[in-house]
Amino acid sequence: MANKWVYSFGDGKADGRADMKNLLGGKGAGLAEMTNLALPVPPGFTITTEVCTAFYANNRQYPSDLTGQVEEALHLIEKRIGKKFGDPKDPLLVSVRSGARASMPGMMDTVLNLGLNDNTVQGLIAKSGDARFAYDSYRRFIQMFSNVVLNVEHHNFEEVLEDHKRSKGLKQDTDLKAEDWQAVIADYKKTVQQHTGKPFPQDAKEQLWGAIAAVFGSWMNQRAITYRKLNNIPADWGTAVNVQSMVFGNMGQDCATGVAFTRNPSTGDNQFYGEYLVNAQGEDVVAGIRTPQHLTVAGKEANGSNLPAMEEVMPEVFKQLVAVRSKLEKHNRDMQDIEFTVEKGKLWMLQTRNGKRTARAALKIAVEMVQEGLITQTEAVARIDASSLDQLLHPTLDPKAKRNVVAKGLPASPGAASGQVVFSADKAEDLAAKGTPVILCRVETSPEDIHGMHAAKGIVTSRGGMTSHAAVVARGMGRACVAGAGSLHIDYAKETMTVGSTVIKAGDTITIDGGAGEVILGSVPTVKPELSGDFATIMGWADQYRRMRVRANAETPLDTRTARQFGAEGIGLCRTEHMFFDAERITAVREMIVADTEEGRRKALAKIEPMQKNDFVEIFKIMEGLPVTIRLLDPPLHEFLPKSDAEMAEVARVAGISVEKVKIRAQQLHEANPMLGHRGCRLAVTFPEICEMQARAIFEAASEVQKAGITVLPEVMIPLIITKKEFVMLKEVIDREAEKARLKTGQKVNYMVGTMIELPRAALMAGQIAESAEFFSFGTNDLTQTTLGISRDDAGNFMPDYIRTGIVDRDPFASLDQQGVGELIRIAGERGRHTRSNLKLGICGEHGGDPDSINFCESVRLDYVSCSPYRVPIARLAAAQAALRHQSLAAAKAAE
Ligand code: PEP
Ligand code: MG
Repeated sequence: MANKWVYSFGDGKADGRADMKNLLGGKGAGLAEMTNLALPVPPGFTITTEVCTAFYANNRQYPSDLTGQVEEALHLIEKRIGKKFGDPKDPLLVSVRSGARASMPGMMDTVLNLGLNDNTVQGLIAKSGDARFAYDSYRRFIQMFSNVVLNVEHHNFEEVLEDHKRSKGLKQDTDLKAEDWQAVIADYKKTVQQHTGKPFPQDAKEQLWGAIAAVFGSWMNQRAITYRKLNNIPADWGTAVNVQSMVFGNMGQDCATGVAFTRNPSTGDNQFYGEYLVNAQGEDVVAGIRTPQHLTVAGKEANGSNLPAMEEVMPEVFKQLVAVRSKLEKHNRDMQDIEFTVEKGKLWMLQTRNGKRTARAALKIAVEMVQEGLITQTEAVARIDASSLDQLLHPTLDPKAKRNVVAKGLPASPGAASGQVVFSADKAEDLAAKGTPVILCRVETSPEDIHGMHAAKGIVTSRGGMTSHAAVVARGMGRACVAGAGSLHIDYAKETMTVGSTVIKAGDTITIDGGAGEVILGSVPTVKPELSGDFATIMGWADQYRRMRVRANAETPLDTRTARQFGAEGIGLCRTEHMFFDAERITAVREMIVADTEEGRRKALAKIEPMQKNDFVEIFKIMEGLPVTIRLLDPPLHEFLPKSDAEMAEVARVAGISVEKVKIRAQQLHEANPMLGHRGCRLAVTFPEICEMQARAIFEAASEVQKAGITVLPEVMIPLIITKKEFVMLKEVIDREAEKARLKTGQKVNYMVGTMIELPRAALMAGQIAESAEFFSFGTNDLTQTTLGISRDDAGNFMPDYIRTGIVDRDPFASLDQQGVGELIRIAGERGRHTRSNLKLGICGEHGGDPDSINFCESVRLDYVSCSPYRVPIARLAAAQAALRHQSLAAAKAAE
């Protein structure tokens, strides 16, 4: 059978259905479904998305049998409506609109009033009895068609219109009479001739095919390409084209056009919410030339408007619209975004689709629809965009406030913050201690900046990607962060930050929006997160459906507490090196590093040990009864080295050696490639006393807390393992310290020893490593870095190009490369579990908080995901959604 490229609708009959979104696009499927529901829909047809795909696959050629099918569908409209296309006496006029599977508002092209020419406009005059309306429609058509199809820019037409108004002393478009519009049309046609070298096309069919080609062409315009990239919409989905007979909302005072949401899209309140304009065409509402009026009296009053509501002006039609609202919502079982036109007192529906909404509205609508019996709890859980919860977990900028954006970077950590610009961590800490909110601005951050990052309300860097130090740490702390804002030139010496001609000085106030990646001049008001009510209800439901546990990456008591408040079920990664960088400890750590004898190192370690132990005591207490995975030291060695003269002098003083010796030692320890250098377990192989000290601190802390009657479940984790031998060697040190602590305290603490899987070799050798390791935690930051051979700190410089060019869909440091890195995880999981069937598997890289990556983790049956505290609720919801998805996949497979 020949392919069906065209689906007709009208007169209560449609070839398509709501579930054909992929083929008909959202708009086409919605029009078909409304037709099937016997709602008033102007007849029309949809050219499928498959035509778009075929068009691009075949060098912009249509399938050969498309013309015939379009002709046939056009005849059907003519029959249904009793008018003929191109008929000078009573012409059928159509709109031509795009409509992809996912809505892409304003990204693609639309042409209205198509079919008008010098002859048919006369028919429109005769039939409408309104020459002014007909000429106005014709000139709108020329303008739109010429812009969309012939690429003549809008301003050319605006200028012609302005000239006319000026020469006649007219102010508003509505002041123009029929003969004025006629004169404008004559000049519009001249403009087209001038710009294209051809007259404006008079043949209706030629117009139609031109518009269809333009809509398909607009799928590949730069705006649409960018929108798709930002919203993860694949290019091969294509758009459909909807051709529909025109209805006119601009034929007089008994006509109107409007858009509405079946519930309030920003609060979620169950109230009809929309805007309309009397005597106007669709684009007038959107274009903002006239102030739209509220649909309901309640809406009008809530917004303090004195323009009459549709409920008052057109009570009959409004009643019909209210009935449509409830029919569409019940049928679609979701909040709808609808478009309608009233032509001479008759209501016509032009669109229905699931409405976009804020996270807050999404929660409220889902919870209330369950209460109303419209959807089930699992549907409610499945329906919320997990990532969107970010909007609720951090203060956000007041959407009504004005923003003066000076630079853009990566949206590295969501939330919004205003504060004074500072360029050093110490300054951040000083000012914050005095109660001044600050934004720490650095070229990039390093572990030594942690105190300043903590003190700051937000962080800006001019270099670095989504897993750069600044991004990871800021997300962990729940600080807003814009990373890699490359247009900012930061000068530490001058204490300025320059972008173009704008110079921002230390002490100036800026605001950052970490969710949008924006750096904004001045202060912008924020609104606080609200985590009870609907949020808590949905979280409670999600927890019932998920299989995977959700833990947090945290190392400070504050972060640990936050993690618990957000529902973390343990710590999946406590990065102990972050504890080493505390201002009090860093000198002792440096003393240890520069020491060239074991004795010297032990002396320095002894200073740190009580502080480490206290940290662990606190964390065990807060995480009472929940597992706490503590990772042994893992920073690149060079991060410990003293850099400034003052730091060198201080280390020399406490270590009792010369500054010269400190300098020589620092040079010796310099590495060409620290990320692949002396870090992770390699440090402990060289200096086992570090591992020993940390293990002792862990077990003595655990014993102390256990003695106080609190259950502790320590899991000691060794980083950057590549062979079983490394693991066994360090595990021996750990077990020995556990035993010593038992003898010393009389407490037998149950613990596990496991490893990070962060390197391809570890993944491949997982079968052997699991002979000794009791758990694996996938460190997908390093695993991505080493599998792709792309530095996690430098990726920000070129990854945007990889995304722009479509080589990758998403930044692999933000969302797991499921094919490559995912394959290594799969292999490691299988080989590890083959050796040890009860091997516990988790993930603690940044991907542990990304919903798509969490879905992958469910598919390889990890036991838990671990993410920064502020992403815990997102991970809980995403884990529930993943479990539901996999259950239904499994059920579908079983049914086959
Ligand atoms: C990782 O590599 O994924 C990880 C969690 O460790 P870090 O980010 O500390 O290197
Ligand atoms: Mg790592």
